[in-house]
Amino acid sequence: MTDDLRPPTTTTDSGIPVASDEHSLTVGPGGPTVLHDAYVVQKMQHFNRERVPERVVHAKGSGAHGYFEVTEDVSQWTSASFLSGVGKRTPMFARFSTVAGELGSPDTVRDPRGFALKFYTEQGNYDLVGNNTPVFFIRDASKFSDFIHSQKRLPDTGIRSNDMQWDFWTLSPESAHQVTILMSDRGTPRTLRHMNGYSSHTYSWMNAAGERFWVKYHWKTVQGIENFTLAEADAMAGEDPDFHRRDLWGAIAAGDAPEWRLEMQVMPFEEAADYRFNPFDLTKVWPHSDYPPITIGRMVLDRNPENHFAEVEQAGFAPSNLVPGIGLSPDKMLMGRIFSYHDTHLHRIGANYEQLPVNAPKCPVHSYNKDAAMTYRHAGAQPIYAPNSYGGPKADPSKELPTWSVEAAEMGRYAYENHRDDDDFIQAGTLYRYVMKDADREHLATNIVAHASDGVTAVVQERVIRYWTNVDPDLGARVAAGLNRAQMAKAA
Ligand code: NDP
Repeated sequence: MTDDLRPPTTTTDSGIPVASDEHSLTVGPGGPTVLHDAYVVQKMQHFNRERVPERVVHAKGSGAHGYFEVTEDVSQWTSASFLSGVGKRTPMFARFSTVAGELGSPDTVRDPRGFALKFYTEQGNYDLVGNNTPVFFIRDASKFSDFIHSQKRLPDTGIRSNDMQWDFWTLSPESAHQVTILMSDRGTPRTLRHMNGYSSHTYSWMNAAGERFWVKYHWKTVQGIENFTLAEADAMAGEDPDFHRRDLWGAIAAGDAPEWRLEMQVMPFEEAADYRFNPFDLTKVWPHSDYPPITIGRMVLDRNPENHFAEVEQAGFAPSNLVPGIGLSPDKMLMGRIFSYHDTHLHRIGANYEQLPVNAPKCPVHSYNKDAAMTYRHAGAQPIYAPNSYGGPKADPSKELPTWSVEAAEMGRYAYENHRDDDDFIQAGTLYRYVMKDADREHLATNIVAHASDGVTAVVQERVIRYWTNVDPDLGARVAAGLNRAQMAKAA
């Protein structure tokens, strides 16, 4: 073998050449292994520490790099620099995921899909952490861990429980809209390329003149919506548990870069107060007829990660990462997420997770946060406190995010005030009656019955029937008949 073809010599992590890849240092051929075989001992120690804690939610993900391109002038609504100018491109990274399943769980199970995007803008990283559904199960962050516990595993058996899921959902009627979408075939997307993404939350945009707007983001798949039926999704879970990950990787590797069109709904700031639905309630959409979606850009994912752990597992998205020209809204779920995403990455990856290449901004960082485990961005001779007299970074008051005013009120634990048309079932009913086709309605009823007849108690089943009757009496009747049939089949 020539020197060129010879593989490199194995080394320790300190770069010291190693004598054997196969044999521990022992006293004679059958003798005890000696503790001072530091290479083998350290190899085992490192292996024991290979995993970081998996995400409590969205554990199994698949990701890809790409870019966002502006296709429409949006300067009338926002001054965000990465959205300024038709044709402008910003590099980005996207991570799609299931929600409840663990790192090794099958890709095609019924679940919402995470749709997390990171834009590496010249004004810092902008993260948009959405789902493939336009709404969510709850509208107040105080219920989030309860909701997730209900989707996870029982404390004694470690097994998932449909009874626990329906118990929580039927006791939380605000979940009806999202559960309708989850139980439809959109709950089992065929691939990650064939689903839409939504900001779900309402955000604010502010233009250079300081005018504010409420906005919602819709990422429409250019590949078209394609879903698995329940039977197809179940079969694929056994056949190829990594089907979605394999499909995304394969398409990009083959040069078939998936693309999404960004459509925005824009609501003038003053219209929120009198809008017929509470525009900040995460369980509601803004009907398109009220605020027609406007196409403003496109996202293309054209590069696979080089290392799954470094780029997909260690990726940290946080909705608190907002750039000038983009702000929050008084959505109580969003408020909670602003705290919890950054917090989970501090725990999962460490205090300096934003210095890792996938998370690091591609613009200069001038922060007064210093040191902590694994930091390698250091200040040198720069001042480490503000204010200072020695040329350290100075904040710019003009970069304040858009805000909103709040009427003076007593602090308390309030429900949202209902707007004119608000109730928990109205939009789920609209979806069922006017948007779904006959086949969608039939599959929805079949999927609900299959799920709610599997280990769900009679008491909870009764509530399941009432819940769907509230969405639509015809759907309630179909579910009741289906659960009845399932019960009789079990008894026979
Ligand atoms: P529209 O008829 O203008 O829009 C309906 C929307 O529903 C389309 O965006 C379509 O998305 C989506 N859709 C179609 N089939 C299904 C399905 N089986 N499951 C879930 N979504 C589906 O109606 P409105 O805007 O007045 O909304 C009516 C209802 O549609 C809402 O109550 C809501 O349940 C649902 N919806 C509304 C959205 C919105 O932002 N207004 C977004 C998504 C759903 P696509 O183009 O991808 O097929």
